[in-house]
Amino acid sequence: MARAIEGLSKIHHHPSVTRNILMHPQDKAHIRYLDIKTRPQMPGKILAATNIHPDEPFLSAILPRVINERLNDQNSHDVPNMLFIHESTPSGVAIRDSGYPFFNEDLKVLMEAYGLSHDEAMAQYGYQLPRTNINGHDLNRSFLNMGDDPEAWLHHHLVAQNGPIPAGFYFHNDEELVGPKGKAIYIYIHGNRQDPFPEEFIERYRVAMRKNGFLLFNGLDDKSEPELGNRVEEGVVRTFTDEKDEKNEPKYASSLENNMVDKGIMRWAFTLEFPVTDKTTLRKMTEVVIDNLVFPVGTSLLQ
Ligand SMILES: [Zn+2]
Repeated sequence: MARAIEGLSKIHHHPSVTRNILMHPQDKAHIRYLDIKTRPQMPGKILAATNIHPDEPFLSAILPRVINERLNDQNSHDVPNMLFIHESTPSGVAIRDSGYPFFNEDLKVLMEAYGLSHDEAMAQYGYQLPRTNINGHDLNRSFLNMGDDPEAWLHHHLVAQNGPIPAGFYFHNDEELVGPKGKAIYIYIHGNRQDPFPEEFIERYRVAMRKNGFLLFNGLDDKSEPELGNRVEEGVVRTFTDEKDEKNEPKYASSLENNMVDKGIMRWAFTLEFPVTDKTTLRKMTEVVIDNLVFPVGTSLLQ
Protein backbone atom coordinates (compact mmCIF):
# COMPACT_ATOMS: atom_id res chain seq x y z
CA MET A 1 0.00 0.00 0.00
CA ALA A 2 1.51 3.31 -1.06
CA ARG A 3 1.23 6.20 1.33
CA ALA A 4 2.07 9.53 -0.15
CA ILE A 5 4.68 11.26 1.97
CA GLU A 6 6.02 13.91 -0.37
CA GLY A 7 9.44 14.29 1.26
CA LEU A 8 9.89 10.55 1.59
CA SER A 9 9.34 9.79 -2.10
CA LYS A 10 11.77 12.60 -2.98
CA ILE A 11 14.46 11.21 -0.67
CA HIS A 12 14.08 7.84 -2.43
CA HIS A 13 15.43 9.36 -5.63
CA HIS A 14 18.45 11.11 -4.15
CA PRO A 15 21.74 9.56 -5.41
CA SER A 16 23.10 9.13 -1.83
CA VAL A 17 20.09 7.09 -0.73
CA THR A 18 19.47 3.34 -0.90
CA ARG A 19 16.11 1.78 0.00
CA ASN A 20 16.35 -1.41 2.03
CA ILE A 21 14.19 -3.94 3.74
CA LEU A 22 14.96 -6.32 6.62
CA MET A 23 12.82 -9.45 6.89
CA HIS A 24 12.18 -11.49 10.00
CA PRO A 25 13.40 -15.08 9.41
CA GLN A 26 10.20 -16.82 10.60
CA ASP A 27 7.54 -14.19 10.85
CA LYS A 28 6.17 -12.23 7.91
CA ALA A 29 7.18 -8.98 9.64
CA HIS A 30 9.70 -6.67 8.06
CA ILE A 31 10.98 -3.13 8.37
CA ARG A 32 11.92 -0.79 5.57
CA TYR A 33 14.72 1.72 6.01
CA LEU A 34 16.76 4.20 4.05
CA ASP A 35 20.54 4.11 4.04
CA ILE A 36 21.65 7.71 3.47
CA LYS A 37 25.33 7.71 2.56
CA THR A 38 26.56 11.22 1.94
CA ARG A 39 30.15 10.28 2.77
CA PRO A 40 30.77 6.83 1.34
CA GLN A 41 34.38 6.83 2.56
CA MET A 42 33.19 6.81 6.18
CA PRO A 43 31.87 3.58 7.65
CA GLY A 44 29.79 4.93 10.53
CA LYS A 45 26.20 6.18 10.57
CA ILE A 46 23.67 7.63 12.95
CA LEU A 47 20.02 6.60 13.16
CA ALA A 48 16.78 8.57 12.99
CA ALA A 49 13.41 6.89 13.53
CA THR A 50 9.76 7.96 13.45
CA ASN A 51 6.47 6.13 14.00
CA ILE A 52 7.69 4.31 17.08
CA HIS A 53 4.19 5.03 18.42
CA PRO A 54 1.69 5.06 15.54
CA ASP A 55 -0.57 7.44 17.50
CA GLU A 56 2.13 10.12 17.18
CA PRO A 57 2.17 10.56 13.39
CA PHE A 58 3.18 14.22 13.13
CA LEU A 59 6.98 14.04 12.96
CA SER A 60 6.85 11.20 10.42
CA ALA A 61 5.29 13.63 7.92
CA ILE A 62 7.73 16.46 8.71
CA LEU A 63 11.11 14.78 9.17
CA PRO A 64 11.42 13.31 5.61
CA ARG A 65 10.77 16.77 4.15
CA VAL A 66 13.43 18.39 6.34
CA ILE A 67 16.02 15.69 5.55
CA ASN A 68 15.21 15.95 1.85
CA GLU A 69 15.70 19.72 1.91
CA ARG A 70 19.04 19.37 3.70
CA LEU A 71 20.18 16.73 1.20
CA ASN A 72 19.45 19.08 -1.68
CA ASP A 73 20.75 22.31 -0.18
CA GLN A 74 24.46 22.81 -0.85
CA ASN A 75 24.64 25.63 1.67
CA SER A 76 22.86 23.74 4.36
CA HIS A 77 24.36 21.82 7.24
CA ASP A 78 26.15 18.62 6.34
CA VAL A 79 23.94 15.57 6.38
CA PRO A 80 25.81 12.80 8.19
CA ASN A 81 25.61 9.19 7.06
CA MET A 82 22.40 7.90 8.54
CA LEU A 83 19.82 5.17 8.66
CA PHE A 84 16.29 6.49 8.54
CA ILE A 85 13.41 4.29 9.67
CA HIS A 86 10.18 6.00 8.73
CA GLU A 87 7.87 3.27 10.07
CA SER A 88 9.46 1.76 13.17
CA THR A 89 6.16 0.00 13.96
CA PRO A 90 4.93 -0.93 10.47
CA SER A 91 2.02 -3.16 11.55
CA GLY A 92 0.67 -0.43 13.86
CA VAL A 93 1.07 2.19 11.13
CA ALA A 94 -0.85 -0.04 8.68
CA ILE A 95 -3.72 -0.34 11.17
CA ARG A 96 -3.67 3.39 11.84
CA ASP A 97 -3.72 4.29 8.13
CA SER A 98 -6.48 1.81 7.36
CA GLY A 99 -8.74 3.88 9.61
CA TYR A 100 -10.09 0.66 11.06
CA PRO A 101 -11.00 0.87 14.77
CA PHE A 102 -8.23 -0.70 16.77
CA PHE A 103 -8.66 -2.77 19.88
CA ASN A 104 -5.85 -1.26 21.87
CA GLU A 105 -4.76 -1.58 25.47
CA ASP A 106 -6.35 1.71 26.49
CA LEU A 107 -9.72 0.56 25.29
CA LYS A 108 -9.32 -2.76 27.11
CA VAL A 109 -8.66 -0.93 30.37
CA LEU A 110 -11.79 1.18 29.89
CA MET A 111 -13.86 -1.91 29.09
CA GLU A 112 -12.70 -3.67 32.23
CA ALA A 113 -13.11 -0.62 34.43
CA TYR A 114 -16.67 0.11 33.27
CA GLY A 115 -17.81 -3.39 32.32
CA LEU A 116 -18.39 -2.37 28.69
CA SER A 117 -18.41 -4.49 25.56
CA HIS A 118 -15.99 -3.57 22.81
CA ASP A 119 -18.77 -1.92 20.77
CA GLU A 120 -20.05 0.02 23.78
CA ALA A 121 -16.55 1.25 24.58
CA MET A 122 -15.99 2.26 20.97
CA ALA A 123 -19.31 4.11 20.88
CA GLN A 124 -18.49 5.93 24.08
CA TYR A 125 -14.80 6.65 23.58
CA GLY A 126 -14.63 6.77 19.83
CA TYR A 127 -11.85 5.86 17.52
CA GLN A 128 -8.42 5.83 19.03
CA LEU A 129 -5.23 5.81 17.07
CA PRO A 130 -3.22 2.66 17.83
CA ARG A 131 -0.19 3.12 20.04
CA THR A 132 0.94 -0.46 19.68
CA ASN A 133 1.72 -2.87 16.86
CA ILE A 134 -0.53 -5.67 15.64
CA ASN A 135 0.49 -7.84 18.59
CA GLY A 136 -0.64 -5.17 21.05
CA HIS A 137 2.98 -4.42 21.98
CA ASP A 138 4.38 -0.93 22.53
CA LEU A 139 7.66 -1.06 20.60
CA ASN A 140 9.31 1.17 23.17
CA ARG A 141 8.41 -1.26 25.99
CA SER A 142 8.99 -4.58 24.24
CA PHE A 143 12.70 -5.05 24.57
CA LEU A 144 12.69 -7.16 27.75
CA ASN A 145 11.16 -10.12 25.89
CA MET A 146 12.28 -9.16 22.44
CA GLY A 147 11.76 -12.69 21.10
CA ASP A 148 8.01 -12.24 21.62
CA ASP A 149 7.83 -9.36 19.20
CA PRO A 150 9.08 -9.53 15.60
CA GLU A 151 9.23 -5.75 15.20
CA ALA A 152 11.37 -5.31 18.34
CA TRP A 153 13.58 -8.15 17.10
CA LEU A 154 13.91 -6.47 13.67
CA HIS A 155 14.83 -3.11 15.18
CA HIS A 156 17.50 -4.68 17.35
CA HIS A 157 18.99 -6.62 14.43
CA LEU A 158 19.06 -3.64 12.11
CA VAL A 159 20.97 -1.59 14.69
CA ALA A 160 23.29 -4.53 15.54
CA GLN A 161 24.08 -5.12 11.84
CA ASN A 162 25.02 -1.48 11.42
CA GLY A 163 26.45 -0.91 14.87
CA PRO A 164 27.90 0.35 16.92
CA ILE A 165 25.80 3.40 16.06
CA PRO A 166 27.18 6.48 17.88
CA ALA A 167 23.80 8.22 18.19
CA GLY A 168 20.21 7.16 17.59
CA PHE A 169 17.39 9.74 17.52
CA TYR A 170 13.83 8.57 18.19
CA PHE A 171 11.17 11.14 17.29
CA HIS A 172 8.01 11.26 19.44
CA ASN A 173 5.17 13.61 20.31
CA ASP A 174 4.15 14.11 23.92
CA GLU A 175 0.43 14.94 24.01
CA GLU A 176 0.83 16.54 27.44
CA LEU A 177 2.88 19.33 25.90
CA VAL A 178 -0.16 21.29 24.75
CA GLY A 179 -1.74 24.64 25.62
CA PRO A 180 0.78 27.10 27.06
CA LYS A 181 3.38 24.32 26.84
CA GLY A 182 2.68 23.87 23.11
CA LYS A 183 6.03 25.32 22.19
CA ALA A 184 7.98 23.28 24.74
CA ILE A 185 10.19 20.33 23.98
CA TYR A 186 12.27 17.89 25.96
CA ILE A 187 14.80 15.20 25.24
CA TYR A 188 15.87 12.07 27.05
CA ILE A 189 19.51 11.19 26.64
CA HIS A 190 20.20 7.53 27.42
CA GLY A 191 23.78 6.53 28.03
CA ASN A 192 26.29 4.74 30.19
CA ARG A 193 27.15 6.60 33.38
CA GLN A 194 30.89 6.37 32.69
CA ASP A 195 30.46 7.84 29.19
CA PRO A 196 28.43 11.05 29.58
CA PHE A 197 27.11 12.81 26.49
CA PRO A 198 29.12 16.05 26.03
CA GLU A 199 27.51 19.09 27.65
CA GLU A 200 28.58 21.36 24.76
CA PHE A 201 26.06 19.68 22.39
CA ILE A 202 23.27 20.10 24.94
CA GLU A 203 24.13 23.76 25.36
CA ARG A 204 24.05 24.33 21.59
CA TYR A 205 20.54 22.79 21.41
CA ARG A 206 19.32 24.88 24.37
CA VAL A 207 20.68 28.13 22.95
CA ALA A 208 19.20 27.47 19.50
CA MET A 209 15.77 26.58 20.87
CA ARG A 210 15.62 29.71 23.03
CA LYS A 211 16.84 31.89 20.17
CA ASN A 212 13.93 30.62 18.05
CA GLY A 213 11.40 31.36 20.76
CA PHE A 214 10.79 27.77 21.89
CA LEU A 215 10.44 26.69 25.50
CA LEU A 216 12.60 24.09 27.17
CA PHE A 217 10.27 22.00 29.29
CA ASN A 218 10.87 21.85 33.05
CA GLY A 219 9.12 19.44 35.40
CA LEU A 220 7.91 15.87 35.66
CA ASP A 221 8.11 14.23 32.23
CA ASP A 222 5.03 12.03 32.41
CA LYS A 223 2.20 12.56 34.86
CA SER A 224 0.75 9.15 33.95
CA GLU A 225 3.94 7.41 35.06
CA PRO A 226 4.96 9.26 38.26
CA GLU A 227 6.87 6.15 39.42
CA LEU A 228 9.47 6.88 36.76
CA GLY A 229 9.98 10.18 38.56
CA ASN A 230 12.01 11.77 35.81
CA ARG A 231 12.45 15.49 36.19
CA VAL A 232 13.22 17.43 33.06
CA GLU A 233 15.60 20.33 33.52
CA GLU A 234 15.76 22.90 30.75
CA GLY A 235 14.54 20.46 28.16
CA VAL A 236 16.85 17.56 29.05
CA VAL A 237 16.69 14.37 31.15
CA ARG A 238 19.73 12.14 31.31
CA THR A 239 19.05 8.47 32.06
CA PHE A 240 21.61 5.74 32.63
CA THR A 241 21.62 2.02 31.96
CA ASP A 242 22.45 1.18 35.60
CA GLU A 243 19.43 2.97 37.16
CA LYS A 244 17.22 0.86 39.45
CA ASP A 245 13.55 1.25 40.40
CA GLU A 246 12.15 1.06 43.96
CA LYS A 247 12.17 -2.78 43.75
CA ASN A 248 15.86 -2.58 42.86
CA GLU A 249 15.12 -3.89 39.36
CA PRO A 250 16.69 -2.24 36.30
CA LYS A 251 14.52 0.84 35.75
CA TYR A 252 14.51 0.87 31.95
CA ALA A 253 14.80 -2.87 31.26
CA SER A 254 12.05 -2.94 28.61
CA SER A 255 12.89 0.36 26.90
CA LEU A 256 14.19 0.39 23.36
CA GLU A 257 16.76 3.12 23.94
CA ASN A 258 18.12 1.57 27.12
CA ASN A 259 18.53 -1.77 25.38
CA MET A 260 20.42 -0.33 22.44
CA VAL A 261 22.89 1.36 24.81
CA ASP A 262 23.06 -1.51 27.32
CA LYS A 263 23.84 -4.04 24.57
CA GLY A 264 26.66 -1.82 23.30
CA ILE A 265 25.19 -1.40 19.80
CA MET A 266 24.41 2.30 20.29
CA ARG A 267 26.51 4.78 22.24
CA TRP A 268 23.82 7.36 23.01
CA ALA A 269 20.10 7.10 22.36
CA PHE A 270 17.86 10.17 22.27
CA THR A 271 14.10 10.27 22.81
CA LEU A 272 12.92 13.57 21.36
CA GLU A 273 9.53 14.57 22.78
CA PHE A 274 7.96 17.24 20.58
CA PRO A 275 4.71 18.96 21.53
CA VAL A 276 1.40 18.34 19.80
CA THR A 277 1.02 21.70 18.11
CA ASP A 278 0.40 23.35 14.73
CA LYS A 279 2.32 22.19 11.67
CA THR A 280 4.30 25.41 11.19
CA THR A 281 5.63 25.42 14.77
CA LEU A 282 6.43 21.72 14.64
CA ARG A 283 8.22 22.08 11.33
CA LYS A 284 10.38 24.94 12.64
CA MET A 285 11.17 23.04 15.85
CA THR A 286 12.19 20.00 13.81
CA GLU A 287 14.52 22.13 11.69
CA VAL A 288 16.16 23.69 14.76
CA VAL A 289 16.66 20.25 16.38
CA ILE A 290 18.03 18.74 13.14
CA ASP A 291 20.43 21.65 12.48
CA ASN A 292 21.59 22.15 16.08
CA LEU A 293 21.58 18.69 17.60
CA VAL A 294 21.06 15.73 15.24
CA PHE A 295 23.34 16.70 12.35
CA PRO A 296 26.14 18.39 14.38
CA VAL A 297 26.27 15.41 16.78
CA GLY A 298 26.31 13.05 13.78
CA THR A 299 29.02 14.85 11.81
CA SER A 300 31.15 15.29 14.94
CA LEU A 301 30.89 11.69 16.16
CA LEU A 302 31.42 10.17 12.72
CA GLN A 303 34.69 11.96 12.04
ZN1 LIG B 1 5.91 8.17 21.78
